[in-house]
Amino acid sequence: MTKLQIKNLRKTYGAFTAVEGLDLAIEQGETVALLGPSGCGKSTTLNMIVGLTEPSAGDIRIDGRSMLGVPPGKRGIGLVFQDYAVFGNMTVRENLAFGLKVRRMAKRDIAEEVEKTADLMGLTDSLDNPTTGMGGSQLQRVALGRTLVTNPSILLLDEPLSNLEAAMRNEMRQELRRIQKQTGQTVIYVTHDQIEALSLAHRIAVMEQGRLVHYGDTHEVYHFPKETFVGGFLGDPPMNFLSGSIQSSAAGTFVDIGCASIQVNKVSPELSLQNGRKVTLGVRPESIDLLAPGASDVRAEILLIEQLGADTIVTLLLGAHEIKLRSTRDVSHQIGETCSLRFHTGMISLFDAETGVQVI
Ligand code: ATP
Repeated sequence: MTKLQIKNLRKTYGAFTAVEGLDLAIEQGETVALLGPSGCGKSTTLNMIVGLTEPSAGDIRIDGRSMLGVPPGKRGIGLVFQDYAVFGNMTVRENLAFGLKVRRMAKRDIAEEVEKTADLMGLTDSLDNPTTGMGGSQLQRVALGRTLVTNPSILLLDEPLSNLEAAMRNEMRQELRRIQKQTGQTVIYVTHDQIEALSLAHRIAVMEQGRLVHYGDTHEVYHFPKETFVGGFLGDPPMNFLSGSIQSSAAGTFVDIGCASIQVNKVSPELSLQNGRKVTLGVRPESIDLLAPGASDVRAEILLIEQLGADTIVTLLLGAHEIKLRSTRDVSHQIGETCSLRFHTGMISLFDAETGVQVI
C-alpha cells in the first residue's frame, strides 16, 4: 500500500529552483533514504513533506489524501533532527509522556505507552533519570522514543546520527534497523552519508541539484546506477569510469578503451549496432580481479597498494586511466609491477559519454 505519494513536486525561490519535478512513492513499512550532497534539496523536500515549506507546484499525498494546506501538526508525521530535541529539565519518562499529555490521553494509557516505548528503545532502566548529562546516543534514543510513542504515520529522520561519534553512530544504526523491523514503521531517512543510506534503507532516492537522479533498491542504485553521478557519489572508493567506444563484432560487444577492449554483456541490439558510439564504462572496484601478468589482455601497472584490514585497495594505471580495485585476498604483487585484470562482465555499466546517463 502506498503510504506517501509525491507528484511533480517543485520549489522555487525567485529564479532559483531548489527542487525540480520530484516524483516519489513510498510504501507502508518501507525505509527510504533521501541521499545527496549538501545543497541538493533534501531539506527543502523534507520541509515540504512536513508542511513547513509550501511547494511551488505538485502534490504530496499521505494514505491517498492531499496534504496541501494541511498544517504540520495534522499530517501525522513524526520528525527527529540531528540535534536531539529533548527537554533537559525533564526525566526520560516525562519526555516520553510529553506528546501524549498534549494529546490529553488518559494517565493510565500514557503510563502503559511510555513503558512500551521505553522497552522498545532500551530505556527502561533510565526512565526516572534526568536527561541532563546523558550522552549523545542516549539522548537520541529519548528523542526518537518521544516521537515514536505518538505513533506517527510516517517517521522522518533528518541526519539523526550526524552529531554522534563514529562508534556510537554504528551502534545507533543497528538500533534503528532493529526498531524499524520491530515496529514496521514507514521511515524517510535524510542523509548525505552513503553508508547510512545503504545499510538502513530498502530504497534510496539520490538527489543532485534539486533533481531526483535515481530511485531504486540499494542493490540496483549501488551496482547499476542510472547516471555517472550516482556511481561516483556512492561507494568508497567510488565507481571507476573509463571512456571508450563501442566495438561490436561476431565475437560480442566490447568497449575499446584505447589500451584494451573490455567485453560487456546485456547489451541491447540497438546499442551493439552503434559501432563507434562514445561511452563511459563504469565498474566498481570490487568487480575487477587482479591476475598474474599475461593472464588476460587487459594489462595495468600497479601504482599503490593499501592494506585496509580485511580489504586491499590497489591503484592501477590502465592506459591513461587511473583506476582502483578492491580485493578481499592478499595481494602478492609489488608496486611498479605490470599485472593483468579481469572485469566482471555482468557488473559493468555503460553511460552515454555526453550526458552520463545509463545506456545499459
Ligand atoms: P544540506 O545537506 O546542506 O542541508 P540540502 O540537500 O538539504 O543541503 P537544501 O537545504 O534543501 O539542501 O537546499 C537546496 C538549495 O536551495 C540550496 O542551494 C539552498 O541554498 C537553496 N535554498 C534553501 N532554502 C532557501 C531559501 N529559503 N531561499 C533561497 N534559497 C534557498
